[in-house]
Amino acid sequence: MVIKLSKLAETLNSSVEELVTLLKEHGFEFDEKTLSVEDDIAELLEDELGTTKSDIEKFVDNVEENLERETKKTQRKQVAGQKKVNKFKSQDSDSLKVDTLVIGETISVKELSEKTGINAAKLIGELMKNGILANINQQLDFETVSLVCSDFGIAIKKQEKSSSTSDLISQNLKAIIGEDDKEDLKVRPPIITIMGHVDHGKTKLLDTIRKTNVVAKESGGITQHIAAYQVEKNGRLITFLDTPGHEAFTEMRSRGARLTDIAILVVSAVEGVKPTTIEAINHAQDAGVPIIVAINKMDLPGANPDKVKTELVEYGLQAEDWGGKTIMCPISALSGEGIDHLLEMILLVADIDPLLANPSRRAIATVVETHVEQGLGPVATIVVNTGTLKLQDNFVVGDAYGKVKTMLNDKDKQISSVSPGCPCVLAGLSKTPHAGDILQVVGSDKEARDMAVQIEAIRKSERLSGQSTLTEIVSKIRSGDLKVVKVIVKTDTKGSFDAIKQSIEKLKHEEVMIKIIHHGIGNISQTDVTMAAAGGAVILGFHVSVPPEIKKLSENRGVEIKNYKIIYEMINDLTNIMSGLLEPEEIINELGKAEIREVFFTKKAEQIIGLKITNGMLKNKSKLRVIRGGEQVGEGQILSLQKGQKPEDTVKSGNEAGIKYKGSVLLEANDIIEAYEIELRERTL
Ligand code: GDP
Repeated sequence: MVIKLSKLAETLNSSVEELVTLLKEHGFEFDEKTLSVEDDIAELLEDELGTTKSDIEKFVDNVEENLERETKKTQRKQVAGQKKVNKFKSQDSDSLKVDTLVIGETISVKELSEKTGINAAKLIGELMKNGILANINQQLDFETVSLVCSDFGIAIKKQEKSSSTSDLISQNLKAIIGEDDKEDLKVRPPIITIMGHVDHGKTKLLDTIRKTNVVAKESGGITQHIAAYQVEKNGRLITFLDTPGHEAFTEMRSRGARLTDIAILVVSAVEGVKPTTIEAINHAQDAGVPIIVAINKMDLPGANPDKVKTELVEYGLQAEDWGGKTIMCPISALSGEGIDHLLEMILLVADIDPLLANPSRRAIATVVETHVEQGLGPVATIVVNTGTLKLQDNFVVGDAYGKVKTMLNDKDKQISSVSPGCPCVLAGLSKTPHAGDILQVVGSDKEARDMAVQIEAIRKSERLSGQSTLTEIVSKIRSGDLKVVKVIVKTDTKGSFDAIKQSIEKLKHEEVMIKIIHHGIGNISQTDVTMAAAGGAVILGFHVSVPPEIKKLSENRGVEIKNYKIIYEMINDLTNIMSGLLEPEEIINELGKAEIREVFFTKKAEQIIGLKITNGMLKNKSKLRVIRGGEQVGEGQILSLQKGQKPEDTVKSGNEAGIKYKGSVLLEANDIIEAYEIELRERTL
């Protein structure tokens, strides 16, 4: 059948000139003298210019006929071939471009057609079969696209949303990573931090592990300083953060980074537990990171591992061979003895709660260390948390951004991708980020730049706004799942600490608790502030002083220091914090009952009802139980209440009234409704 272009232009709300241009552009045949085209070509033009409702109706009537035409159109396209810009797609499966497509929240029919290779008309037909009338420019949601594309054997995946700048600033890794499809998750290498007292052998241990087990040693060795490296054990990788000491761990954690999966606590078999050992234990335990104890320097004559084990019991670490749960490995970092066993134990602990990540998404990574490198500019050692980082990826990291230019592994070798749990040195940054900053790959250079600018502005204003208040602490804790008020207690004497501890223990409540994450004797120090920032704790001082530089530091880090002279006042403040955390109590106030006389009007779940109040009263907006035949059959609410024509707040027993009702069941004549309201009452300890 031949169709006049003038007629077609009318249907398509176009002009003959536009149609001629399109026909020429795509190399389709038409009769230049009569200005007419074959009907199948006309339909291709319709695809391009949008489909009117009447076209869709035609489509429904003639699905079979359409299929035939589609085939014919494909042949036409093959003939037209050369000049076309590949805009008109065939629907046969051979021409499908992809078997998986990643889309955002929505995608237009046109774009979907272009990306998949499914003919637009065919897509519209499929949508119609599913009850959706769409034109070529219509935006389709994820579910609809998945449904339609599944018929073509194309799997649709959602593009992870870029995280909000506030999540990036708070380094809320969990929120940034979000939920991954289970089937996409693969086991990743564990990430290990080595902690312990000075001179107990942390550096030596890191060196020995690196030297003996570095993945596939290469000639040339390691020249580039990389703050994380990997070793291989039993064919599996283990990532070590090469920044010994809990300062690095705390510093990163105070920025919210939760990078470490397992902490190795190095304790000298000669010296035993020292103050920093205890601090390290507190840090790891507060962060919920499992600890493996490495009892080091076993080669020395004075080595006494049993003494170490005994001392550690006091801090909640009981050796497995003593009936406890903590793995303790005797080692010598100097001779290398016991290191193999230690590595095996790391894998064992990692397997208890398998570490999973999705290598097929855009990367999220954490910065471990940064410096400026000649020739490369600002560089950062990062460890990828999830996703795969690739060359040319655009990213935002703290208030810096960039495009991945160069990536080096721990053997100074250029690499093109980094998978979850693995480290690299990264170049291509606009400026130097901070340790603990989170790197996120985003869609474009512009997006990366915009986010970095936003983050910089927010950080600046946060620095200006200064200290947090108790109320803020309450709201922070409230938003978490666990209502634990963490405190660091510094006192003048051990005696006062014992007294405070006793009083705090009495403040027990099943919903909220106070946890002393660290305590000590003496003035409030930098370590206290860093630790409080890391754990979200309040520092409580008793008869101690706060040096001015520490006060300033605490203000910068948003840590609250409360200093007391009277224990009662400290306990009073803690009681107030805890009370603030208790959920208010719900008290049900019964209001009255009414009998349904007549249902005047029903629209979906809403009804207009005539009733008589038989007990108490009805109150506007009150909640309802619906009783039928003596049993509760549903629940609802009074949306509005009136007596006669007049809206009322309450109507008392003995009166007739009208209500607008919404509920889980529709009301019937003779149903009884019981009205009640819920009062929220603040609770105190
Ligand atoms: P760090 O401060 O914890 O990093 O401790 P280092 O790794 O710097 O070690 C402190 C000192 O103890 C160095 O002189 C090391 O050579 C020595 N050392 C470390 N491990 C061992 C060991 O297993 N045996 C002996 N005998 N010495 C060790």
